[in-house]
Amino acid sequence: MTNITPITLAYGDGIGPEIMQAVRRILEAAKAQVHFDVVEIGKKAFLEGFTSGIPDSAWEIIKRNPVLLKAPITTPQGGGYKSLNVTLRKTLGLYANVRPCVTYRPYVTAHCEQMDLVIVRENEEDTYTGIEYQQTPDLVECLKLITKQGCERVIRFAFDYARKCGRKKVSCFSKDNIMKMTDGLFHRTFNEIATHYPEIEHDHYIVDIGTALLATDPGRFDVIVSLNLYGDILSDVAAQVAGSVGLAGSANIGKEFAMFEAIHGSAPDIAGKDIANPSGLLNAATQMLVHINQADVAMRIQNAWLKTIEEGIHTADIYSANSHEKVGTQAFADAVIARLGQSPAHFKPACYQCAAPVIPTEIVSQQPPVTVKKALVGVDLYVDNSERALPICMIVGLLEELVFALKLDSISYLGLKIWPNSPDEDAEPAHYCCRFVSAYGGHLPTITLQTITTLLNGCDLLNLDVIKIENLYSFDGERGFSLPQGQ
Ligand code: NAD
Repeated sequence: MTNITPITLAYGDGIGPEIMQAVRRILEAAKAQVHFDVVEIGKKAFLEGFTSGIPDSAWEIIKRNPVLLKAPITTPQGGGYKSLNVTLRKTLGLYANVRPCVTYRPYVTAHCEQMDLVIVRENEEDTYTGIEYQQTPDLVECLKLITKQGCERVIRFAFDYARKCGRKKVSCFSKDNIMKMTDGLFHRTFNEIATHYPEIEHDHYIVDIGTALLATDPGRFDVIVSLNLYGDILSDVAAQVAGSVGLAGSANIGKEFAMFEAIHGSAPDIAGKDIANPSGLLNAATQMLVHINQADVAMRIQNAWLKTIEEGIHTADIYSANSHEKVGTQAFADAVIARLGQSPAHFKPACYQCAAPVIPTEIVSQQPPVTVKKALVGVDLYVDNSERALPICMIVGLLEELVFALKLDSISYLGLKIWPNSPDEDAEPAHYCCRFVSAYGGHLPTITLQTITTLLNGCDLLNLDVIKIENLYSFDGERGFSLPQGQ
């Protein structure tokens, strides 16, 4: 007898309650050994003033149970509301987003011949930390933060997933030809970790051509692992090409918690009409059952669902000339329940024995840390020049001899070097970055925070509008910052 697993359940907004009701009925009919603790999160909580959309009473339950099954939530427009999903992912440490993308031809129309792949997306870092600044009237900044540990755990997860699920290849998507440090770290970590999984093939694609190939030739991919932003885009492209935005579910996995949900939103345009497709949430619930070690129940449900789909019993969103009967949300659930215990005739029956829950392995960087020699070797000073409009030649004149220990190395505008050897020294950039390095050459440890403070005081006296500084470090003698283009 399997133990009963407590699951936190959120009915969500829009079509959420009706698809969750359908899924819950199927889980109960299939005798899933679960107990549901219902929480109310989403639109109502947002409008009651909880900016995260999650009241304290719900947090208590969410943090008590290791698994959350969540229907889609409506984020009200404007009003400074935070994304509930991002809050949940970060608070619960859900670092890997797992999204299987599968075609169900000929019963469900798809934009490709055949797709059966899994996208594993890093879920907590990248530009999704949401750290943004306005620096001048015309310039805004978004920070892209990538950690070695973050890369390691999601890439390890992707390889562990491939190994446990009998997948043959893991492909890494990044843009390290441009972002050599951030995406470069992801790609390098991927290559390192791949050596621990010699039986699994691995390759790398620059994300733009990789996405084009995913859309036109998905058969070449098996498991794809990528950074947060690219992974977000890739998984919607793949789901759309598979023709199944209403069918796909996803898992958000962390060390202690996991959250399962459909990939679509709350579809307010069709809410309350009993026409929404509950399949995305049902497929997420199936992933959940595998995760909590109830693969036998997951299989019963998945096979009944495949049989329903191949018999042409379809909700309106996938109804086509190949369909047999158009049904509503609850009638679709009834059809799946009626087929529990049956296997599909056309589709390959689901087999989850091989897909035991993927327990993330310990990450390499948590082994004894290697001591790295870090040295402060310079500073970048960002200046808003929009009001004073000083030309480059005058800026150089002011800054060149400002602090004895520092030498002005370069001035750049949006990452492009504009001094020295500028074609137009009379240009007045709206903002610029001045790079200062040691006046004594790289080998003498002459720069301290005090030197930088002196530099800032000097800029203040010159009435320069310094909006940001970024210290420049070397690590074991290696440069830890990019050079401006043209240097
Ligand atoms: P959406 O996914 O809700 O809807 C897009 C289109 O797909 C609509 O035409 C809708 O009717 C249709 N659709 C979606 N799910 C369907 C289903 N199960 N069956 C049949 N048709 C379906 O996207 P949207 O309209 O951009 O977003 C609506 C709301 O959902 C927004 O408030 C958004 O913030 C929220 N949202 C929530 C989540 C989540 O909670 N995970 C994800 C995405 C969007």
